[in-house]
Amino acid sequence: MSVAADIDILVSEVGPRDGLQSIGRVMPTEAKKAWIAAEAAAGVREIEVGSFVPAKLLPQLADTAEIVAFARTIPGLHVAALVPNFKGAQAAVEAGAHKITLPLSASESHSLKNLRRTHAQVLDEARQIGEMLKALPPERRPEFEGALSTAFGCTIEGVVPEAKVVELAVALMEAGCSEVGLSDTTGYANPTQVKRLTQAVWAAVGRDKLTGLHLHNTRGQGLANVVAALDIGLTTLDASLGGIGGCPFAPGASGNIVTEDLVFLLEAMGLRTGISIPKLLEVRRLVAEALPGEQLYGFVPDAGVPKGFRPAS
Ligand code: ZN
Repeated sequence: MSVAADIDILVSEVGPRDGLQSIGRVMPTEAKKAWIAAEAAAGVREIEVGSFVPAKLLPQLADTAEIVAFARTIPGLHVAALVPNFKGAQAAVEAGAHKITLPLSASESHSLKNLRRTHAQVLDEARQIGEMLKALPPERRPEFEGALSTAFGCTIEGVVPEAKVVELAVALMEAGCSEVGLSDTTGYANPTQVKRLTQAVWAAVGRDKLTGLHLHNTRGQGLANVVAALDIGLTTLDASLGGIGGCPFAPGASGNIVTEDLVFLLEAMGLRTGISIPKLLEVRRLVAEALPGEQLYGFVPDAGVPKGFRPAS
């Protein structure tokens, strides 16, 4: 999504999807709604509220259609949802999502293991989705992002060749995506790589077709990677409230970068997010109550903002 004039950086909350899918327990639908409403009220403009995957695979997200419909009633909120395939995209359109994201793992082994699909098969789904969207009236047509997961490295294959990431980004755009995204699914990225890979993809698809990153903090590099992204002019960053979801491979490390810490970083650097840190910390308390015993991450929630701190906005 293009960034509104009154903010500099769009913080896209992915906790209700990426966070909740990674933890075993199922958050009640009403608690999810309260979370989303409170976070929107704190000033968050975009929330990925769920994933249209079969309920038997991810019972945590079985209520995604209801959550999308609810989120749509919140004025000014851009409602995003993940779709694993054409069928999921149909359901997302029906529910009224403003943005749908189809993940394509740059590592084919990872793609086979996670989605049980080859690159060619996922690109085929992307083409079908693109055709379906083209046939919709513009006012009902969601943005369609092709998200390159494991773009910075894969737990199975290790190094993922940058040429492969670029090739797949081009293929996704040709298949009908309106934009592409890069995801550090495994927390392998470093700041130099963030700049190099983003610029390589920009050279192939155009700067306006890649505006955001999805970073994880598995190895503590998340915010360093954010600064690299800001340095080259990226404007959208995914994050998860309380870093929920964690990382099963790195005890003590959050999964996604932590929304509270990210918003503090941005505002402290003078970049307007439109988000109120005190209100965000209230949302964190709400989520902590709804997930008793679940580990929440982040430094700013514990330390508080520094004395004399003034937000950018
Ligand atoms: Zn993620």
